[in-house]
Amino acid sequence: MIRDTQGRFLRNLRISVTDRCNLRCAYCMPEEEYVWLPRQEILHFEEIERLVDVFIELGVDKVRLTGGEPLLRRDLPPLIRLLAAKKAIRDLAITSNGILLGDEAPALKAAGLHRVTVSLDTMRPERFAQLTRRDTHAQVLEGLAAVARAGFTDTKIDTVVMRGVNDDELADLIEYGRSVPAEVRFIEYMDVGGATRWSMDKVVSRQEMLERLTNRYGAIEPVVETSTAPADRYRLPDGTVFGIIASTTAPFCADCDRSRLTADGLWYLCLYAQKGIDLRGPLRAGASAEALKALITGGWEVRRDRGAEDRLAQRDRSPLLQVERLKRDPHLEMHTRGG
Ligand code: SAM
Repeated sequence: MIRDTQGRFLRNLRISVTDRCNLRCAYCMPEEEYVWLPRQEILHFEEIERLVDVFIELGVDKVRLTGGEPLLRRDLPPLIRLLAAKKAIRDLAITSNGILLGDEAPALKAAGLHRVTVSLDTMRPERFAQLTRRDTHAQVLEGLAAVARAGFTDTKIDTVVMRGVNDDELADLIEYGRSVPAEVRFIEYMDVGGATRWSMDKVVSRQEMLERLTNRYGAIEPVVETSTAPADRYRLPDGTVFGIIASTTAPFCADCDRSRLTADGLWYLCLYAQKGIDLRGPLRAGASAEALKALITGGWEVRRDRGAEDRLAQRDRSPLLQVERLKRDPHLEMHTRGG
């Protein structure tokens, strides 16, 4: 196990398997056009596996596949099978927008995937179409039903809450989550790369969400637990549990044990980091496992990032990056580095 300068372990690896997405969510991909990663630079499954083996040796025991939309990566189950065979990974999950889960859920389950998180921001099809610029709300709901049918448990629904967009649906989403069943986690709208339309007045804080839900349901209790998971969990009077990820107003940098591998093998130590460490180059040049281990250890041991806290300390906060900069370096995009 290795620690960074702040004593944080390297335990949680998020692997983006593609930068492509079949939605255009207003908070993530609001532009008309994007610069995509060159195909020949995308890591093959065997290359991902080699890197994961090194990360495991250094302490990683949680792996999440993400993107872009991970299910757009052709024939994903063989990668899941490779990873599921690694006993050191005690939590193997995927974050998906759900559109393709109706077809894919059984194969993902059969391949050994442990858990599924589906991003869903609204229960209203017309609002979904407006927010994502795609008319596929019914497929997302079908995807969640398929996840339950395939036998997955501990399913989560992630909802980005935006003022004036979907902040009137907190209770509707909780009710829907209960029916799936899935635990809903409300995410504060973040000023990450890609969120070029972000502004502080569109952020609904954890505190405000709790106030609104208390008005609706009565007293809400925090669930007491020790974990480095980003969501604070709460219990409604009827026992329903939900989470809030307060990354904008109360960041969890102090406990952050996560890092991100892009589909083309750049390794980022913070969601807000401007530079990543190239692992694809050395890997393709024939670096040994020991050499990769040294490279990763060297990167982690000097890690000081507290990106979300640094953002919080800024006055007059505006979007992190402008479109021109994102076009010059698509690695700065949330959909490239994996949410
Ligand atoms: N396509 C998959 C999905 O939709 O879940 C995985 C990738 S997506 C980038 C991962 C997560 O990042 C989603 O839950 C999405 O809502 C979240 N996300 C993207 N932009 C965000 C922002 N500006 N603020 C908060 N969360 C954001």
